[in-house]
Amino acid sequence: MKPSTGICLAAVLVMTACATNPVTGKRELNFMSEAQEVQLGQQSDPEIRGEMGEYPNPALQQYVRDVGMRLAKASERPDLQWHFAVVDVPAVNAFALPGGYVYITRGLLAHLDNEAEMAGVLGHEIGHVTARHSARNYTRTATANIGVVLASIFVPKARPFMGAVQAGLGLAFLKYDRDQELQADSLGTAYVAKVGWAPSGMSGVLQALGRIEAASDSRGVPNWLSTHPQPADRVAKLTQTVQTLESARPASEWSVNHDPYWQRLDGLIYGDNPREGFVRGREFIHPDMRFRLTFPEGWKIANGKRQVSAAPPGVNDVALVLQLVESPAGASLEDVAVGSMKNSGFSLVNGESTRLNSGLPVYHGIYGGQTEDGGVVQVEAAHISHGGQVFLLAGLSSQARFRQAQPFFVEAIRSFATAPAGEMDRIKPNRLAFSTVRGGDTWETIAARSGGAIRASDLAVVNGFAPNSRPPEGRRIKTVIPGE
Ligand SMILES: [Zn+2]
Repeated sequence: MKPSTGICLAAVLVMTACATNPVTGKRELNFMSEAQEVQLGQQSDPEIRGEMGEYPNPALQQYVRDVGMRLAKASERPDLQWHFAVVDVPAVNAFALPGGYVYITRGLLAHLDNEAEMAGVLGHEIGHVTARHSARNYTRTATANIGVVLASIFVPKARPFMGAVQAGLGLAFLKYDRDQELQADSLGTAYVAKVGWAPSGMSGVLQALGRIEAASDSRGVPNWLSTHPQPADRVAKLTQTVQTLESARPASEWSVNHDPYWQRLDGLIYGDNPREGFVRGREFIHPDMRFRLTFPEGWKIANGKRQVSAAPPGVNDVALVLQLVESPAGASLEDVAVGSMKNSGFSLVNGESTRLNSGLPVYHGIYGGQTEDGGVVQVEAAHISHGGQVFLLAGLSSQARFRQAQPFFVEAIRSFATAPAGEMDRIKPNRLAFSTVRGGDTWETIAARSGGAIRASDLAVVNGFAPNSRPPEGRRIKTVIPGE
């Protein structure tokens, strides 16, 4: 974009001004100053961390931060306050926010083969930040509806059940266009080479990620392919860049760091972590918080870090949501219930303090409120006291469907119960481990030895092979072991 001075002056009146692109050195129409970029990143970062969680391994976080910082210092914007984090989701992706916030998922770490590849991914995301891609895309979509990534429940006025629908997540997953992707590839590869990692890392990554489905994980976090379009010529274009960079030094001088990287992967959680809640049939079970409940037959259940929601398929004005509610010390359950609902824009119609079948104390009420477009929302809400916390389990519905939906809401509320400690303690996540390919092995036989913790095709892809390939005998490979 090369605006005339006139357009830039007009833009000043709208928001800010043209800014100089740090990568090209050219001035361009960009509604965001660096301070605004940083502010936007700062605002959205807690939403990303809150919704996805940070992977609870300080040594791994530090390792990723160290690699990321070395790359960032080699970039055109070494003085930004850079932040790097491993987020605790199984989706295979990496993404960045304006202002220097870069995230990589534990799912992607599991799929990489060495440190040079990880540097390639981080370098690519740093490239999006240094070239101000997300700042530009944000400017372009600022007035549009920022993408809703997680299960969309219809949201009444005043953003009551905060959580699922977050601008920050939409910002992180803004789609880049093809030119921006190519630019991030070449910028990232240049940073990687400048620090001394093999620049071929990024080509390896692109090939590996091309084998992973574009689908989303159970929390709605999209995989790489759905947010990083990969035109056929992208790998080819990058190959030229890589060859030019690589020829600058003898092959032996580029560092790949395969073994140190694999040591970091040992024991990494793979796939969904059932400790944070899992679905079994109609039941939702949360081992860490020790509760279970049964959702209505056939409803689609979405498990976010801050909110679980369920909705009948094809219906957008009926939903059940479950989340924690703040409860000030000394407040009665009724006060907590009525107060927090009021803060969310709902007024009490009627309610009573009682106990669920399981014996847990509950304040069960009916509330009314309005959607943004003026429609009436009715809510059947239970504030349940369990394990020293207050859970809100609420059925929301348009007025037209409330009578029909109410029995399902009531049934779900009645099913909420404490889960037995012994059974809950035995539930553990699957983890990455290592194994050696035996004579006659196929991906199927190795997957079978893992006790069903990973599918054969996924096992091949985690190891950088195509699913229809044959694992080379004697090779050390990654595998996944059940968590018990
Ligand atoms: Zn990208």
